[in-house]
Amino acid sequence: MSFQASRFIRSTSDERRHRVGGTKIEARLFSQTWETIELRRIATPTDSLAAFIDALGQQVRWLEERSGHAGSLPVGIALPGLVDPATGIAFTSNLPVSGEDVGAHLTATIGRRLPIMNDCQAFALSESNGGAGDGFNTVVGLIMGTGIGAGLCGAGKLTKRMNGSALEVGHVGVPARTLLPLNLPLWPCGCGKQGCFERYVSGSGLAAIGQYRSGRPWKAEEIVSAASSGDVQAKAVMADWAAIAAELLFEIQIHHDPDCIVIGGGLSAIPGILDILEKGLSAIPLGNMRPPVLKLAIHGDSSGARGAAILADGTPAAIATETSR
Ligand SMILES: [Zn+2]
Repeated sequence: MSFQASRFIRSTSDERRHRVGGTKIEARLFSQTWETIELRRIATPTDSLAAFIDALGQQVRWLEERSGHAGSLPVGIALPGLVDPATGIAFTSNLPVSGEDVGAHLTATIGRRLPIMNDCQAFALSESNGGAGDGFNTVVGLIMGTGIGAGLCGAGKLTKRMNGSALEVGHVGVPARTLLPLNLPLWPCGCGKQGCFERYVSGSGLAAIGQYRSGRPWKAEEIVSAASSGDVQAKAVMADWAAIAAELLFEIQIHHDPDCIVIGGGLSAIPGILDILEKGLSAIPLGNMRPPVLKLAIHGDSSGARGAAILADGTPAAIATETSR
């Protein structure tokens, strides 16, 4: 999955957020009504910790400068991967920070502690506060894109998690009851395990199914487009994908029993995606469990940074339990 580190800085008059991806670190300054005032993206240094921390520091300073609240603007950072609440040690496969206390390094650079959170948790927090999950109690924010990840909020609040993780649903194994009828193999995952949902349900997973069925490279967007045009083989690939995606939603449902799942990420743009997932999920119920409401994310690309900004701002009562450092 793509990563983002979101930083959010905000004062009583404005707020800013920063987001770092595998390729870009994005800083967003928000208004009091959570509209993006300014946005700056810079390249993400991936070769050294020092360069990465320096780039983060530059973005924080830019937000402070643009807001006119140097040293006091609330800023939150959303990172892909884990930041252990007990030790501050990060683990991520796409940024040069694994084994390091990112918060401590950043504090040494900018002179103050900023809250750091997982980007999927930031997405869930954002969509639970002024987003698609408004009015629901237990909200799972599910990002379906380059990778698969999810975050969880209850009553608009994050819950404190021992390892600082989001819901690592992308690395749950697809059950045999799903793969065997589809006659799909166990594919190895970058996490070191086999048969993870991410290998089938992400954008690259859809492409992998397409290639396996057709015997030729087939991009996800081409499969989606061909299926929309009535291509029989593409429709069959989409049906395979939909069956596994529905099982992913089922796993989320039986573990967390949310009343709403907010879908984000690039695959949320698949035509009729909510209908596809709703039908798939309703076909595999457990007992009389009612399915959660499925909704599309409202805040799109900005949702991760927005969540980090909400965390830093402390606006919703929701934030209290999230580790802040
Ligand atoms: Zn995996």
